[in-house]
Amino acid sequence: MPREDRLKLKVRWRRYATPELLERAFRRVHASAEGWPTRATKVSPDLLRSIKRNRMWAFVDLHAPGLPPVVHYWHAANVRADRLAFMLGHELGHTVGKRSKFHRLEEDRADEYGRVAHAVLLRLRKGNR
Ligand SMILES: [Zn+2]
Repeated sequence: MPREDRLKLKVRWRRYATPELLERAFRRVHASAEGWPTRATKVSPDLLRSIKRNRMWAFVDLHAPGLPPVVHYWHAANVRADRLAFMLGHELGHTVGKRSKFHRLEEDRADEYGRVAHAVLLRLRKGNR
């Protein structure tokens, strides 16, 4: 069994009460962050609509100097837990390992972590049988 400190990721979580607050946070973080991936330099005017349609969304802020990354997220009350696990696992994936400088490859890499989180949740639901 790993020591307790080996179990913990250095990450902070910020959950928002509404999609509007999350969208505002994204615009604020995006505007202040240096080195934000170029693909994301333009924030879609449809972002809020997209968040609402998906009923969940998250992003990670890796740019606070000297501070652990922050995962910002919102989800509707009754979203499926496995979808939520995938989304949050994906965002955590951006905080660990070696990032790709190519946006699509980085998203694919993060998806691997999302799949891990998803698989773990499904495994636990089966009661470890
Ligand atoms: Zn991502």
